[in-house]
Amino acid sequence: MAQMLIGGEWVGSRSGDYIEVMNPATGEAVDTAPRGTAEDAREAINNAHEAFAVWSEWTQARRADVLRRTVALFHTNEKELATLLTKEQGKPLREAILEIRRFAHTIEYYAGLGKNIRGGYIPQIDENKYGLIIKRPLGVVGAIVPWNFPVSLMGNKIGPALLAGNTMVIKPAETTPLTDLRVVGLFLEAGLPKGVMNVVTGPGSVVGQEIVSNAKVRKVGFTGSTDVGRRVMATAAQTIKRVTLELGGSDPMIVCDDADIDEAAKAAAVGRFFNCGQACLAIKRLYLFDSIADDFIARLTARVKKLRVGNGLAEGTMIGPLHSQSQRDEIEAQVQDAIDRGAKVLAGGDRLHGEGFDDGHFYAPTLLTDVPEDARVATEEVFGPALPIFRVGSLDEAIAKANDSIYGLGSSIWTSDLTRATRAAERLEAGYTWINSAQIIYDELPFGGFKQSGYGKEHGIEALDYYTETKSVVVATKPQQQ
Ligand code: NAD
Repeated sequence: MAQMLIGGEWVGSRSGDYIEVMNPATGEAVDTAPRGTAEDAREAINNAHEAFAVWSEWTQARRADVLRRTVALFHTNEKELATLLTKEQGKPLREAILEIRRFAHTIEYYAGLGKNIRGGYIPQIDENKYGLIIKRPLGVVGAIVPWNFPVSLMGNKIGPALLAGNTMVIKPAETTPLTDLRVVGLFLEAGLPKGVMNVVTGPGSVVGQEIVSNAKVRKVGFTGSTDVGRRVMATAAQTIKRVTLELGGSDPMIVCDDADIDEAAKAAAVGRFFNCGQACLAIKRLYLFDSIADDFIARLTARVKKLRVGNGLAEGTMIGPLHSQSQRDEIEAQVQDAIDRGAKVLAGGDRLHGEGFDDGHFYAPTLLTDVPEDARVATEEVFGPALPIFRVGSLDEAIAKANDSIYGLGSSIWTSDLTRATRAAERLEAGYTWINSAQIIYDELPFGGFKQSGYGKEHGIEALDYYTETKSVVVATKPQQQ
């Protein structure tokens, strides 16, 4: 029985209930976590509020030291954390290790910024007066995290929030609380004072709702679906709470006729099927120039057919199961809709059956061509291992189709022509554009979606702006005696 963290103590919920955390590959229970209530969330918020008075007075360097010491503990515990993550989330162990390392890198990055938060100074703003621009922490911040990358997406909030002097109440996804709780325990071991970071597990509509509506919470960092993000923003408006929203996406990848076809096909296979396609920044629509389309499709299909699906803990597994039954139902319905409208299946297109598959939520990596542009796989976010492929006649056509979406998270273009690459980088309506590169995210670069993919930025020095208030100060001095 895992416990929640409130005020530095590991506790159960007032509800007395626990939620079973299931292994998506086997259908077996991994462990249980408390079913938190609104009162639990309020208690955590009150503890964080009290701890703020102390933590915000620590020097930046001292706060950064705690972050650095925690990073050392992540490395020591990497294998155990990754194994737990695979069991509760489903991803292959190799990807779980990458996620733990990504989390460690993010925390290390913000520890490194510990001496770099700057304000401003305006001399002689008036007669015998100067102005200062200072940065202050916000207070208690909420962090609401989804199940697809439960650890690294929590890290994107912890790094800037703690470094800037805020205290936190974290709500993991109902189905992936276990690794998050272990990770947060390492911060305590590294010397984080009690109450600075609290974790309340349980339903989003109860625990999450309390965090978003509670007036003591000054900001919410939310990662999840666009639908819930919209609700979070509306609720937060009642208390004019700051929000950062990292939401859904439908990233287009454009491959021009002058691209390195083999490298691009490799990037498409990884970019679509990593984490069983359950990534916000996954390639979800592929636009191929007509003249290279057949060659590209042949290479991509060959790669996709070699992807080995299985239990994430089994040696050699490249793709795990979908995270839940409802995720698999959704992807099945989206693929079936495309087939019903005339799409052709080049690979996959169905569940996987047989030994090792029957108890988990497995689905074959799927490629679809001849997909109508109004099919669900083209207009909705496809959060699973299926990729619709479209043919285009020119770059402008590709960009217009790529932008014809409510989403604007990531995007990529493959071309050897600098003019085409520049045009795409400037015109694609997305928070990220990769040029001749796999879709890999960097802590050094700010990231956040355009349009209905989100609001605000995570990563980079820029993220600190979303965890601080900027304040102006005017200082009057006495006239100088001549
Ligand atoms: P979700 O929106 O269902 O849930 C996300 C979190 O919000 C969970 O912790 C959930 O419990 C909580 N929640 C649910 N209802 C709530 C409410 N009323 N108030 C407050 N919190 C509430 O998303 P999900 O299915 O867990 O994650 C998948 C989605 O997340 C996809 O759309 C994906 O694209 C998106 N995502 C975006 C990014 C990004 O950086 N833009 C990264 C990863 C995932």
